[in-house]
Amino acid sequence: MSLLDIRIVPDPVLREICAPVTLIDAAVKRRAEDMLETMYDAPGIGLAAPQVGITERMLVVDVAGEGEKKKPYCLINPEIIWKSDTLSVYKEGCLSIPEQYAEVTRPAEIKVRFETPVGTTEELHATGLLSTCIQHEMDHLNGVLFIDYLSRVKRDMILRKLARLVREHEG
Ligand SMILES: [Zn+2]
Repeated sequence: MSLLDIRIVPDPVLREICAPVTLIDAAVKRRAEDMLETMYDAPGIGLAAPQVGITERMLVVDVAGEGEKKKPYCLINPEIIWKSDTLSVYKEGCLSIPEQYAEVTRPAEIKVRFETPVGTTEELHATGLLSTCIQHEMDHLNGVLFIDYLSRVKRDMILRKLARLVREHEG
């Protein structure tokens, strides 16, 4: 297993529409393991393939709290097949937009169908943080970031702060 390089805004790969995974083979399985390792190391609760420069429709999530048993999911070619009318608001962050957070409103519950690294097709009824996290990661597969849900003023403020942070880090 190896740690992958996390891409930061404004890396153009974060705006690409990802292609479906057509063959679930050993390489895909290995990639899922690398993505999980990279996510835990960051640390984060979700990571989508384009965030590590891979424009394929797969993502990993694990919203288990500190001290709780790990509960990783790897979703390949995920599709939302149902979403609740009820909405929920979470303060979201993103490994590609480090140290910036903002409230985003999304459907509170979803049902998602996906393939797994062992080639099975599964459905998951996600609620709470898991639901938000999966929706956030699925957005990445379509080049959408959580800052796209914010007003222009808020988005520009976050981008300015991020640019300053990156400059300081490089300097
Ligand atoms: Zn993200």
